Amino acid sequence: MKHDVIVIGGGAAGLMCALEAGRRGRSVLVLEHAERLGKKILISGGGRCNFTNLNTSPENFLSENPHFCKSALACYTPADFIALVEKHGIAYHEKKLGQLFCDFSSRQIVELLQKECAGARVEIRLNCEVQQLQKNLTFDLQTNQGPFQSDSLVIATGGLSFPKIGATDFGYRTAKQFGHKLTVTRPGLVPLTFSTEDQAAFGQLSGISIDAAASGNGMSFRENILFTHRGLSGPAILQISNYRGECDPIAIDLLPGQPAREILAAHRSTNKELKNVLGQYLPQRFVQEWCGRFVPSRPMNRYSTLELEEIARHLHHWEIQPADTEGYVKAEVTLGGVDTGELSSKTMESRRVAGLYFIGEVVDVTGWLGGYNFQWAWASGRAAGQFV
Ligand SMILES: Cc1cc2nc3c(=O)[nH]c(=O)nc-3n(C[C@H](O)[C@H](O)[C@H](O)COP(=O)(O)OP(=O)(O)OC[C@H]3O[C@@H](n4cnc5c(N)ncnc54)[C@H](O)[C@@H]3O)c2cc1C
Repeated sequence: MKHDVIVIGGGAAGLMCALEAGRRGRSVLVLEHAERLGKKILISGGGRCNFTNLNTSPENFLSENPHFCKSALACYTPADFIALVEKHGIAYHEKKLGQLFCDFSSRQIVELLQKECAGARVEIRLNCEVQQLQKNLTFDLQTNQGPFQSDSLVIATGGLSFPKIGATDFGYRTAKQFGHKLTVTRPGLVPLTFSTEDQAAFGQLSGISIDAAASGNGMSFRENILFTHRGLSGPAILQISNYRGECDPIAIDLLPGQPAREILAAHRSTNKELKNVLGQYLPQRFVQEWCGRFVPSRPMNRYSTLELEEIARHLHHWEIQPADTEGYVKAEVTLGGVDTGELSSKTMESRRVAGLYFIGEVVDVTGWLGGYNFQWAWASGRAAGQFV
């Protein structure tokens, strides 16, 4: 069966591309290997889908070419997606930092995309496995549901994170098949695991969260850090995980914006214990373990000025050397992907193979935590949808 456009992958980017192309009167077929569309959308944002971020700008994205995302993001902004959300009467709210979530359920975003696709006469096939793919005069696909052909082929199969809901390396394999280069891929927005020593000290603190700043590689994020059974998570840690090199330490400021030196100096002549002083600013259980590991707690008047200065420095710069990350199983995104050097930033079309497009997370563009990754999926899907 011949279509103008085949989109492989019925997730955020693929559905956006399909509905745009369909609206232009193109005959569009979406092939999705899972039994339902948009599974990642469904589990996103804790079931409420953080569908965009009001503050989206190119600086919120990582890529070997930081300029690549600019054109698509400029042509399809958060306001454009919000207009679509409002058209469908979906109630939403800003949680914090420009992050927009559905009031009720992520399911509403999948339904929105399905309705728009239906309105644009997009054909969707679920449980469809692509077994072979070739470019002759057309793109020729063999699948478990028979052969299909198209003039344009869009790869929207996403990244490697959350394999349990259907992530595959199909997009990367297809890129290689057509001679495209890949940048190194690794888990992004991912929790970090403790070294053996830190695990022994902090492994019991699971569930405790602290307003802190996590830094590394010249970037710093002020949000919560969350202790897990095996390490650290929470928004500040997930954000910095994107910037951290594989073996790099991270630094945590436990009292961001507060002058630790002055706080300690104010108690310098009292016999109050250090852990009780810190307990006024940080969770008591954490302070107990942190002091146990680094600074045995004593009455304040038993520390020298130098010791207090060192403690203050350590509170603002607690350096942690993680053992590893939790990997793709718990990563929200995949960093790296199809090298943008061989793609058009306006249309997402391959410069190697006419009619072949890559959109969404499979491309080497990764956003911060907070709705940026969906905004990239919508924007890159829209960009391709206008041209396929
Ligand atoms: C737990 C979790 C929570 C998240 N929360 C948010 C959030 O709140 N806000 C945000 O901006 N981002 C969030 N993200 C990231 C966001 O979900 C992704 O960046 C986004 O979905 C990428 O869109 P995509 O269309 O490129 O890929 P996907 O949405 O992953 O879609 C790819 C589709 O391709 C299908 N597919 C894969 N291989 C094949 C194949 N071989 N044949 C056919 N189909 C195939 C998949 O089943 C899937 O339907 C979250 C990610 C996770 C894992």
